[in-house]
Amino acid sequence: MKKTKLNQRWVNKLESMNAPSLEQFQQQVSELLLRHRSLLDVLSKLGQAGASVNRAVTKAITDCGCIELNARKQQYSAELDLENAKETLQSHLTGSLCENCNEALKTELGRNLFYMTALCNHLHIELDEVIKDEYDKCSTLGLFNLT
Ligand SMILES: [Zn+2]
Repeated sequence: MKKTKLNQRWVNKLESMNAPSLEQFQQQVSELLLRHRSLLDVLSKLGQAGASVNRAVTKAITDCGCIELNARKQQYSAELDLENAKETLQSHLTGSLCENCNEALKTELGRNLFYMTALCNHLHIELDEVIKDEYDKCSTLGLFNLT
């Protein structure tokens, strides 16, 4: 039930944004990627982009302070059923991203997506197939996928 609501929300958002299809995005990346044509460059840029995402989240916590992280050991127990686990297990996050941090993080996530797509292009993998396969896997595995 929840998944369907979430899917519909995404569909509505994508339609309202006039977002390009994954195929269009993948084609655009293919046309733009001149500087880092080598697979090795793409791999290293993808790693760097992932580190930049982590850095942007870290800066939201330590520089800006709009979000806070208060992590501790998760309290698992044998009696915890899956529905209760969703209530009991913590994200360790409080607050929400301010406008500046939200923009910074979206920029870094976009760069990450760009180089992930470039990697797909190099290896002849369709981005929409990656998402479809992962979606199907999540649908099949459900909550067990979160472990
Ligand atoms: Zn912030």
